[in-house]
Amino acid sequence: MCGTLYIVGTPIGNLSDLTHRAETTLQSVDIIAAEDTRVSRKLLNHYNIQTPLISYHDKNEMSQAQKLVERLMSGDNIALISDAGTPCISDPGYRLIHSAKKLHIEVITIPGPSAVTAALSISGIPTDHYYFEGFLPLKKGRKARFELLESLPATIVIYESPVRILRTLKDIERYWGNRVVSICRELTKIYEETIVGMIKDSIQHFEKSKPKGEFVLMIAKQGYQLEKE
Ligand code: SAM
Repeated sequence: MCGTLYIVGTPIGNLSDLTHRAETTLQSVDIIAAEDTRVSRKLLNHYNIQTPLISYHDKNEMSQAQKLVERLMSGDNIALISDAGTPCISDPGYRLIHSAKKLHIEVITIPGPSAVTAALSISGIPTDHYYFEGFLPLKKGRKARFELLESLPATIVIYESPVRILRTLKDIERYWGNRVVSICRELTKIYEETIVGMIKDSIQHFEKSKPKGEFVLMIAKQGYQLEKE
């Protein structure tokens, strides 16, 4: 009988955010496929989980997916995790899931944290509709993405690194004007911070204090205004 593939959400910073079901799943499977085994080892050590780890990342995805599917076919249960948050959300995984499903292997979600939902939940701007952009293209196709997203009637969610956030904020202002933005940094960690305001002010803020940590940018739809106090 085939094994089961579990897609397991893990913390985005605070190690205590692993769910009980995720912990027991990671304990009980035959193998854990992880993006960076050194990063995941810290989480597993914290919970005293001894399950063997195997790497599964962008660069070996094709060949590893094949090997993992063979193991599933031979009856092994496998958990897929990423460095942080939920696999397949701006992280590798869908190829493995697709290959498993083609062979009628059961794929089960063990839901957990993700920076997109954590950020939206405390954004302070409308979340009734949102569009997840993830990482913007760095060069080719970047302008086209801005043009495509400009008038979407939804909050737009972008993942960004500290080295590129200022450039992205400036591009947003250049292409879309002075929109309302909510910016979350270092969610669930010691220096967690959320700022809500106009994009011009956030540019000034990060020009004065160097951006540090991981960021989620949420840009309110065209025409949205902050309520006056
Ligand atoms: N799979 C992950 C998830 O479910 O959110 C996302 C992985 S993606 C490679 C990493 C990006 O997620 C970071 O560059 C940042 O934009 C965002 N991110 C991850 N952890 C975060 C945190 N603790 N605070 C803010 N943003 C975070």
